[in-house]
Amino acid sequence: MRPATKSISKKNLAHNLSVLSSLAPDSKTIAVVKANAYGCEITQVCDALDKADLFAVAEIGEAMKIRQAGSEKPILLLEGVFEENELPIAYAENFEPVIATFTQLQWLLDFPDDFPRVWFKLDTGMGRLGFQPHNADEAMQELLNRYTEENIVIMTHFSDADSPNRQKTLKQIDAFDAFASHYPLCEQSLSASSGILAYPDAHRDYIRPGISLYGVSPFDGNYGEDHDLKPVMTLKTAVLSVKHFKKDEPIGYGQTYRMETDGIIAVCAIGYADGYLRFIPSGTPILINGNEYKVVGRVSMDMITVLVDENIKVGDEVICWGEDLPIERIADKADTIAYQLLTTVTERPRKEIS
Ligand SMILES: *Cc1c(COP(=O)(O)O)cnc(C)c1O
Repeated sequence: MRPATKSISKKNLAHNLSVLSSLAPDSKTIAVVKANAYGCEITQVCDALDKADLFAVAEIGEAMKIRQAGSEKPILLLEGVFEENELPIAYAENFEPVIATFTQLQWLLDFPDDFPRVWFKLDTGMGRLGFQPHNADEAMQELLNRYTEENIVIMTHFSDADSPNRQKTLKQIDAFDAFASHYPLCEQSLSASSGILAYPDAHRDYIRPGISLYGVSPFDGNYGEDHDLKPVMTLKTAVLSVKHFKKDEPIGYGQTYRMETDGIIAVCAIGYADGYLRFIPSGTPILINGNEYKVVGRVSMDMITVLVDENIKVGDEVICWGEDLPIERIADKADTIAYQLLTTVTERPRKEIS
């Protein structure tokens, strides 16, 4: 059997949830599990997130999978419903909609039943979803025709909370408070991972950790370990072939890499069709038998080539990221973010949940 495997640690996931919740002891915790729990197999890890107060996903299909896996927890729909006819399903299944547009607001007001809780999205500077300060009061007044403040959570999202420069986020918090002060009985939710770690004043009633739950630091140059977080996904495989090459011999598609000296190349069974993305460059670290080597040459669909030494043999274990090799290092080399690496692992690797 092909050895490429996506291995998920429920123990580390539960650990991360507990670390994040204890950073905000007076807040409830919404475990953000959109995109299949950032690639970490939501239907198989629900129980490890049992201590969360809610789940949050991007759409009803994701929420339905959680129900089918047997969880009864309330589920926040982060972008609300996409069509009016999703509201009855959301209501029946205890999914809680975000209201971010006048269209969604009208659908909600036309819907005969009352949700136990709805989430009012304010755009404080992200420039994406949500009511802007100039028309948010108008939207809130309409909502208050049907719902009481006690049933409404005002939420916003930061655009720059991972930056060392705090100005933009502090301005967003001020804009949030200026609006929310008109509705003192509404609960509040502002912070995703970077907000949770960098802005304790923005913890408020509900925190919304995503990437940090999976053991990844949201800050450039930091690692999950710096926040006592542990990696949840390990992408691993094995060595398929070991061969000796002479100085200047080419390796892989396009002959983009040439041996700098005589040396040894291990071919490993992982490629871009598994989610080890093609733009991961020569020089990216990889672990074989716990020792660090470098990927060289182009990533192929099913294989990569690694510059190794005489210690490496066919069948040896290869770790692309995860346990003992922080995914942040791979993301940094590939000029992307760990969010993308986690969420683009495909269905092909075997899954190992422990
Ligand atoms: C995805 C998302 C989160 C989680 O963000 P992380 O940076 O992964 O912690 C929180 N809130 C909203 C609205 C989101 O869309």
